[in-house]
Amino acid sequence: MNILLLGSGGREHALAWKLAQSPSLTKLYAAPGNPGIAEEAECVALDVTDHAAVIAFCADKAIDLVVVGPEAPLVDGLSDSLRAAGVPVFGPSQAAAQLEGSKGFTKDLCARAGIPTAGYVRTASLADARAALARFQPPYVLKADGLAAGKGVVIAETLPEAEAALADMFGGGFGAAGAEVVIEEFMHGEEASFFALTDGTAIVPFGSAQDHKRVGDGDVGPNTGGMGAYSPAPVLTPELQARVMAEIIEPTVRTMRADGNPYSGVLFAGLMLTAEGPKLIEYNARFGDPECQVLMMRLESDLAEIMLACAKGELGGVEVQLRPETALTVVMAAKGYPGTPEKGGRIDLSGVEPGGAKVFHAGTALKDGALVASGGRVLNVTAMALSVTEAQARAYAAVDQIDFPTGFCRRDIGWREVAREAA
Ligand code: ATP
Repeated sequence: MNILLLGSGGREHALAWKLAQSPSLTKLYAAPGNPGIAEEAECVALDVTDHAAVIAFCADKAIDLVVVGPEAPLVDGLSDSLRAAGVPVFGPSQAAAQLEGSKGFTKDLCARAGIPTAGYVRTASLADARAALARFQPPYVLKADGLAAGKGVVIAETLPEAEAALADMFGGGFGAAGAEVVIEEFMHGEEASFFALTDGTAIVPFGSAQDHKRVGDGDVGPNTGGMGAYSPAPVLTPELQARVMAEIIEPTVRTMRADGNPYSGVLFAGLMLTAEGPKLIEYNARFGDPECQVLMMRLESDLAEIMLACAKGELGGVEVQLRPETALTVVMAAKGYPGTPEKGGRIDLSGVEPGGAKVFHAGTALKDGALVASGGRVLNVTAMALSVTEAQARAYAAVDQIDFPTGFCRRDIGWREVAREAA
């Protein structure tokens, strides 16, 4: 089959790498791709906001499946346009992608379906929001309703801080995403991620992971897109995963279908493991980045076949095999990230021992034939081993073989599990 993969990050490099291993693949295209993806696919320039151009490309190249990596084209309705043109696509419709695109939508769905999550109020004006604060205890969790590239959540310790954040949100500080604000109860616990594929009816679990959002060792400093991750997350035991399926994922898929708004693609649940059990923090309508990199390292099954079955509504009976080992990825970022990253720094990967860790490219580019940094998160150094401790050691051994003078990384990815393994 011919596949078009959309996106240009480390997540898409991992997807391209896995799709390229599929016996059923004839030709893989990626738009726009990056230098790492270019090793697996033919990279093409396509404007994904120009739906007609994407459809024309699919017709010209006899594309059998489009795989959408990031969330923006999903929320923008690209899947709907492709499906209307008869092109199978892995990724939800615009209406179903509201599970990621609107926090209020997801909270209302949870309330109707009895899905465990934090209590909440949806507010559409500063006056309403300020009044609603009285119903909550600090710390206050305030969320701009729409997509805000991971920056739409404020946790305020005091009432004045919460009021100032609300004024900023309603004052346009978060763009269109802040037209509505969800105020939530604060949940205590450890966070973990769970993934499932669904075609709207059948549901197949796709493993667990934990990521590291803060920029600094020991989980300090500003939030980022993610500085590293590992899979599986042992804290999400088989018993807890069964509860997540029964109490969160299945009712979501069932309710979306009953509403005439079936969800198709990967459902990525951000969870808080509270004393009362797992509760939903949020849904994402795509694979996480960098969680995708560790899931793809562990995947044994044929990704192209699974994604095509999902896109065609034929997921029933399909099984996903993940290797039992741990995969761990360390994100190397450009100095300055998550503020303004230094671009153009040279990268030399020639010292990385073949057969060790896999280096996925995120923000890289070729300049005069040489590899340079072109974004905030630049490389994802990913290793597999029988324990998190060993996977961590292998990943950092490869990090140390990379010559990237303007790069940095956290040195403690996996610390929670490493501490538990040592205990
Ligand atoms: P992302 O970019 O990670 O998808 P987002 O902007 O969509 O983030 P959420 O995932 O909803 O926002 O929240 C971001 C983080 O804020 C969570 O990972 C969690 O640490 C914290 N958080 C969110 N809601 C709550 C809550 N109700 N109680 C405690 N912490 C919370």
